[in-house]
Amino acid sequence: MKLSNRLAVITGGGRGIGRAIAMAFAQEGAHIAIAARTLTQVESVAKEIADQFPVKVLPVTCDVSDARSVEQTFARVSEFFERGADILVNNAGIAESAPITKTSDDLWQRHLAINLSGSFYCTRAALPAMIEHGWGRIINVASIAGKTGAPYIAAYSASKHGLLGLTRSTAMEVATKGITANAICPGYVDTEMTTRGVENITKKTGRSAEEAMAAIRKMSPQDRLVTAEEVAALALLLASEEGGAINGQAINVDGGSVLY
Ligand code: NDP
Repeated sequence: MKLSNRLAVITGGGRGIGRAIAMAFAQEGAHIAIAARTLTQVESVAKEIADQFPVKVLPVTCDVSDARSVEQTFARVSEFFERGADILVNNAGIAESAPITKTSDDLWQRHLAINLSGSFYCTRAALPAMIEHGWGRIINVASIAGKTGAPYIAAYSASKHGLLGLTRSTAMEVATKGITANAICPGYVDTEMTTRGVENITKKTGRSAEEAMAAIRKMSPQDRLVTAEEVAALALLLASEEGGAINGQAINVDGGSVLY
């Protein structure tokens, strides 16, 4: 097993990509802490894991945009597992759209607070134990919107560009300490986030849900959505021993829609 006895903290693990990563890691023997704001969802994923895999699992509520909540979460993780995390997956995120002229201060701040500051707070909390152990993996779930721009997603895209900066600087800072930091940049993934995006397009443009989904699929040269499991497969490689020389990278999982 690739992650035997490793301890992974996965933010936004209550559904979608975070859930798929939690399942993939647990299948490879990792103990898992799942953190998100909705207790019922983190508990439900924890139960799924506990029913299938012989690993320890902790569901914990956390708002990653709140530095205190993050500190409390990492304290809870250390107490429960009696050790710090080996692997941190900064996956918690939100995506809302608006033209720049209609982007409120709140919408802008919310994206930076959750998608960027949240990853920083978790990285800051997780690193001391990794440095002490001389081993660690930080995996930031960014987006192809962290590499390129598109209309109506300035706040989301800026937060994900920032996340790539955090990833690269973290990678350089801890490169000699057995720790890697990388980002995954998915295209559109088949999760609730994309379903909400489709609903939004439908509401704002009057297009049918089928038309909106077809337009989203067309953004990939493969004319399809990415699956959460395909994102999890890359996360597993980055988390494993074999992924140890991959550092400071931002790797697209998008069917080839962005070629850099
Ligand atoms: P979902 O909306 O399905 O899941 C998002 C997860 O993040 C939920 O568990 C949610 O739980 C959690 N979350 C949101 N805000 C916070 C917060 N403040 N504190 C803690 N947890 C939070 O989205 P996906 O699974 O699709 O997305 C996961 C990541 O992948 C995101 O970072 C997203 O930007 C990125 N991504 C997604 C793509 C897509 O097409 N779906 C494409 C590219 C990147 P709760 O609300 O209970 O807190």
